[in-house]
Amino acid sequence: MNLSKKVQLFPSIKAIDALWSVSHLCTDLWNGSLEERTYKRGSKANIYSQKKSLVTIKEYLPEFKQPSSQVLQNVIFSLDRSFSSFFAKRKKGDFLANPPKFKSKKYFFTQEYSQYNTSFIVENNVLKIAYGKSKKDWIEIPLPQEVAFINNFKTVKILYDDAKGKYYAAFSYEFEEVSYLPNENTMYFDPGSKNALTGINHKGEFYNYDISHLRETNMQTYLHIDNLKAQLSKKKKGSSRYKRINRKIKQGFSKINTRTKMVLSKISNKIIADHPNINQFKIGNWTTPQTISKTGLKIKDKRINRAMQNNNPLSKLINIFSYKAKMVGKEVSKFDERGTTKTCSMCGKKLKEALSPSQRVFKCRDIKKCKFEYSRDHQSCLNFVKNFESALWQSLVGKLPTRTKRVQVNVFSCKTQSNIVHFKMHGNLLP
Ligand SMILES: [Zn+2]
Repeated sequence: MNLSKKVQLFPSIKAIDALWSVSHLCTDLWNGSLEERTYKRGSKANIYSQKKSLVTIKEYLPEFKQPSSQVLQNVIFSLDRSFSSFFAKRKKGDFLANPPKFKSKKYFFTQEYSQYNTSFIVENNVLKIAYGKSKKDWIEIPLPQEVAFINNFKTVKILYDDAKGKYYAAFSYEFEEVSYLPNENTMYFDPGSKNALTGINHKGEFYNYDISHLRETNMQTYLHIDNLKAQLSKKKKGSSRYKRINRKIKQGFSKINTRTKMVLSKISNKIIADHPNINQFKIGNWTTPQTISKTGLKIKDKRINRAMQNNNPLSKLINIFSYKAKMVGKEVSKFDERGTTKTCSMCGKKLKEALSPSQRVFKCRDIKKCKFEYSRDHQSCLNFVKNFESALWQSLVGKLPTRTKRVQVNVFSCKTQSNIVHFKMHGNLLP
């Protein structure tokens, strides 16, 4: 399995100079290739002809011999990808999509070194990237300890965050996963529309992993960005106020990304740590619309609205959890959960209409005999047990669990907190 790891770099002044000179050449190459593909009359330039013409460019402009040829080739590939994705979006009717633009030398051009040994190596925890005539001239940057465990590097990208003034290396590497050890213990999860995974394990214990704090905090940031966008439209483009607001917008998006990744990683680690004896996690068949609950926020800017729709923490959590579990030899799979929300786990009668996401309590429609009432997501879990684990179900009949462990992450300190939520006396677990 291929994984990625991003770390901050502290390059020397000499290394910074070299990185920026590569960045300038990449920008020149990007702009030249873009011009050739868009504005030259009758031009038939494409990815292949442009890759070939690199040889000629190097003959006439020897400075292009300095950077690794892979980095230059990747500029042409990345331009081609931008064109393809632009045409694909237009074809789908997305008229907000923009064609590739000219780049300014003010901004660092992200450099992709795509082959270990040829364009980069890591030796004694020092990253060496191809530059100049021979290996003696390569750019050397010490790496933090965090990547010392990696021994199967595949590619590296060098990035610069304008807003933070920091350099980063993003590695991709091969990770050998632990092979899956099947055992009898399975945990079932219901991906609830209220931003949580509710699960029941092989002992009939309930767990509730809640990410609503993350979602709420992200919503506030989106709202903040939306306000900034409104302010931006009143400022003169290119003015210092315009730039300042624009920088704040970028920082806002970057905050959301970092925060989301950190919180979801913490929760995923917590799920794995909470259940050392479970080798198999089954998650009810999730679909994106189902895992999105209405935000109630009024965002004016179309792009922010779209970003918000795409950033769905619950489906991201399921992705992160799946690969983390895989790394330690545990299996995560989907299963068909159709009808489990509507069906009463006690008497099997079905509700006439599906519960809306805002209805948190399941109430059996047989109000004379059955009268069963239970927290919605927990009641779905009972149905999973009833359908898939008959021995466990037999042991639960008549003495349903009386509590659930709720796990949340403090968004600001990123610590996980667990507390036990108890059932009410008559057996109803209220949210
Ligand atoms: Zn019932």
